Amino acid sequence: MAFTLHALPYAYDALEPYIDTLTMQIHHGKHHQAYVDNLNKAIAGTENENKSLEDLVESAGSISPAVRNNGGGHWNHTFFWNSLAPGAGGSPSGRLAEAINGAFGSFDEFKTKFVAAGIGRFGSGWAWLIIKKDGKLDISSTPNQDNPVMDVAETKGIPLLGVDVWEHAYYLKYQNKRADYLAAIWNVINWTKVAERL
Ligand code: MN
Repeated sequence: MAFTLHALPYAYDALEPYIDTLTMQIHHGKHHQAYVDNLNKAIAGTENENKSLEDLVESAGSISPAVRNNGGGHWNHTFFWNSLAPGAGGSPSGRLAEAINGAFGSFDEFKTKFVAAGIGRFGSGWAWLIIKKDGKLDISSTPNQDNPVMDVAETKGIPLLGVDVWEHAYYLKYQNKRADYLAAIWNVINWTKVAERL
């Protein structure tokens, strides 16, 4: 059963000016599409052909690099698109706000640490807000298309928020300035969706 690329939950230009239209078109229509296509190629005719994306990602340590990278790419990007929304931003409220304040001191301190995780990721990868097995929130970063759900993750947990820090996520608008991209992204974070995941 082949995986398919779902349409974005908003228009390609909906996240302007923080994420530009061309970046969104290429990121979703080319990069994410390629992860889906290459995942389908990698599982075709193998024992992994009928597994769910969740099952594949959770067993990343025992599947081929092609399935790990492209399966992770499909999972991560689907999660990322759903973490963003036009006209979003602001700050979390309710139980999520309490959890963030409890774990990091304040929303501002959380953002500082999250941005540091994104900037500190050498090369390509992701920054994550996760909830760990003990119920505590934590910030982590993964290389390439790995994620905190994977059995190989250094810090495991259930992702609440993930931000793509590959250059393809920001280079057209922000060039080498990953920090500027990570400063702007807060304007389009869908805190309602993040809170639902808690
Ligand atoms: Mn990406």
